[in-house]
Amino acid sequence: MTNDFQDLYQDIVMDHNRRPRNYGELQDFTKSSEGFNPLCGDQLTLYVKLKNGILENISFTGVGCAISKSSASMMTEHIKGKSVAEAIVVFGAFRDMLTDNVRSDFPTDILEDLEIFSGVSQFPTRIKCATLCWHTLNSALSEQNIVITTDDNNR
Ligand code: ZN
Repeated sequence: MTNDFQDLYQDIVMDHNRRPRNYGELQDFTKSSEGFNPLCGDQLTLYVKLKNGILENISFTGVGCAISKSSASMMTEHIKGKSVAEAIVVFGAFRDMLTDNVRSDFPTDILEDLEIFSGVSQFPTRIKCATLCWHTLNSALSEQNIVITTDDNNR
């Protein structure tokens, strides 16, 4: 990472950590899921209002480190209004960006501002902080009512 990029990353993460977007429980959610990252202690609950295959609204509550909170905050901004299919593709691209650090089958341009998290791939213990919200979303959308715990096989 260049210093400029590092600064941008810090600024954005700190801003979302201080003022998380879409924070709080939705009144009219249709799906909800909980995620927990035991490595860091990050906890997250997602609320999704799904209508005709579109994520009409999404919010989250939880406690955790700056990375987990800012990642959840930016995820909700990014996928609100998108279809479930689109959200799953973004999840795939985001996960691959962090875990493989090479391009996969997923296009990078769909990540847009989420690309600022690419540097997290250099810190393996923090990857799960960034991906927790996405795994939790995936769980909410896949009809499974289970608590997601990230482990070595599921990051
Ligand atoms: Zn964390």
